[in-house]
Amino acid sequence: MSANGDESLLALVREDLRGFGGYASARSQSFQGEVWLNANESPWANPADGSGGNRRYPDPQPQALCERLAGLYGCSPEQLLVGRGSDEAIDLLVRALCVPGRDAVVVTPPVFGMYAVSTRLQNAPLVEVPLRDTEAGFIADMDAIAAAALQSRARLVFLCSPSNPTGGTIALEDIAALAERLHGHALVVVDEAYGEFSDLPSAIGLMARRSNIAVLRTLSKAHALAAARIGSLIADAALIRVLRACQAPYPLPGPCVQLALAGLDEAAQALTRQRVRLLKAERMQLQAALVRLPGVCRVYPSQGNYLLVRFDDAEQAFRSLLTAGVVVRDQRAAPQLGDALRISIGTPEQNARVLAALSAQEIAA
Ligand SMILES: *Cc1c(COP(=O)(O)O)cnc(C)c1O
Repeated sequence: MSANGDESLLALVREDLRGFGGYASARSQSFQGEVWLNANESPWANPADGSGGNRRYPDPQPQALCERLAGLYGCSPEQLLVGRGSDEAIDLLVRALCVPGRDAVVVTPPVFGMYAVSTRLQNAPLVEVPLRDTEAGFIADMDAIAAAALQSRARLVFLCSPSNPTGGTIALEDIAALAERLHGHALVVVDEAYGEFSDLPSAIGLMARRSNIAVLRTLSKAHALAAARIGSLIADAALIRVLRACQAPYPLPGPCVQLALAGLDEAAQALTRQRVRLLKAERMQLQAALVRLPGVCRVYPSQGNYLLVRFDDAEQAFRSLLTAGVVVRDQRAAPQLGDALRISIGTPEQNARVLAALSAQEIAA
């Protein structure tokens, strides 16, 4: 527990939820027994369910998975909430901290859209502090974020580092300084969905000094388990307890938990690390090759597994890629990105195909 204490942090939770215990599921009561007839489950396994392991409701927060994830991220299991992707954690944070119509959420567009979606669903005010497009790439304006958060009485600030779709990062000392300025006012959430691809250390290391920092991690990207929907929120243990009470009774499907455990064993983790290294090398090569193509105006430096690219004619580039069977993310509707596409880094062969399609376009034009 941090020196800042939990009280100022729990004061950020909606007043009406502070004593809320949530749903008392059959699974959440700890009895000893041999014959379990307390949850209206079937006494027989489904024929498709070999070992019968799916007959019963799953553990709401499976201990083995929580421990494995805590080990992976360098926190204690009590500081970690596992949910259906980090998307669920984003939604839980907004719901538990923001009174509709009153408590604002600060975001930094252009950025991942789920913060705004959850805010809208909660009918909480959304405050936008645009990223600034600079020589060094898109950067978060930390002074403007602090001022906007204090002025709007925001409860939550979502930072994305590495940021989707821009690829930029925020220095840890800047995150710590923001959290200090917002102490007692707002929780600073650092979304590290792409943390594995970044050279920067995780903001989880800041939490011991700053209890109003929380971090989002996911198995959806570097760990290649997007369909399993396993995301983590790492935050102060007292806040995690509150959020668990707000979560659905059995959020994690048993087969997904089994898959995640297998996907995080020693061998799988070693392979993941190796692939992350390959992907980072590919990112560097693709960036260098794209910069040389005529028609490419700008390739932003990226610490994620994607590149944000501005084109002279983004429509034509998008079409050329589609014609070659390559689908990339059109960013043109996003603020400040009217000429940009986001290209995920693929295998070496896939990246070569991207370059071939964009080069052929130049010859044709
Ligand atoms: C992909 C992504 C996520 C991951 O969401 P999951 O629900 O865990 O799959 C979270 N944040 C950002 C910025 C992302 O791009």
